[in-house]
Amino acid sequence: MDLSNKVVVIMGASSGIGAATSRLLAKDNAKLVIAARRLNRLEEIQKDFPGKIDAYKADVTKFEDVKNVIDKTVEKYGRIDVLYNNAGIMPTAPLIEGRRDEWQNMLQINIMGVLNGIAAALPYMAKVKSGHIITTDSVAGHVVGPDSAVYSGTKFAVRAIMDGLRQEQAENNIKTTIISPGSTGTELFNSINDSDQKKFAKDFFENVNGLQPGQIASAVEFAIGTKDNMSVSEVIVRPTRQT
Ligand code: NDP
Repeated sequence: MDLSNKVVVIMGASSGIGAATSRLLAKDNAKLVIAARRLNRLEEIQKDFPGKIDAYKADVTKFEDVKNVIDKTVEKYGRIDVLYNNAGIMPTAPLIEGRRDEWQNMLQINIMGVLNGIAAALPYMAKVKSGHIITTDSVAGHVVGPDSAVYSGTKFAVRAIMDGLRQEQAENNIKTTIISPGSTGTELFNSINDSDQKKFAKDFFENVNGLQPGQIASAVEFAIGTKDNMSVSEVIVRPTRQT
């Protein structure tokens, strides 16, 4: 696909779905800006596409970091066409374990991270009445599984926020896309500290013949490549065997 006319920012681009999407959109010649906390991992992607990608260290829970990435993008290109809020963690565990620090981290990264992206990018998009905000949600944003109440809660919240954004900004021609993957082979399982949950997630991935991150990236590419009058509101991409 030729995306050479698109200025795209990806938050949470250092591994998994974000990294795969970065590589795919770089191949599509998008004007790409990628960000995450692990700058070394971003640089590995950058060096495979010399001169094509800008990379910034940024923590999505810090508004000043997110704003810096967006502002630098607009400084360089004069606009931002697409913001992809992809950063997320999934430290699932039963509520009875009372892992309040993990709950706090999930709320901050999975929800506030998305809101920080919207707060930083939307004013630029609304001003020119054009833009596209994409967020990685989850099948867990539709159904609550055992021991994933808080993670699901963050993903339900993000779907609500994104649908509100869609309704508020339709008159400004701003597209919104929710990408909801099922089980996908990434580093997300490393964010699980409860050993039973980690095993459950890995076994589940094996049992359903889980997806590869590039398969989610292709859904993002599809949503970005649509004509101006067509907005892909949500894409659910499950492994065929995931019920
Ligand atoms: P990975 O762990 O491989 O990627 C997570 C990405 O989020 C990394 O780039 C990580 O970068 C970034 N990130 C995490 N915390 C922060 C932070 N505070 N600031 C900036 N970036 C951050 O997992 P996935 O690729 O699977 O996850 C991507 C998204 O997909 C998440 O939102 C996840 O909830 C969602 N998802 C994944 C599914 C799966 O089965 N894998 C299923 C459904 C949804 P760094 O650590 O360098 O900051």
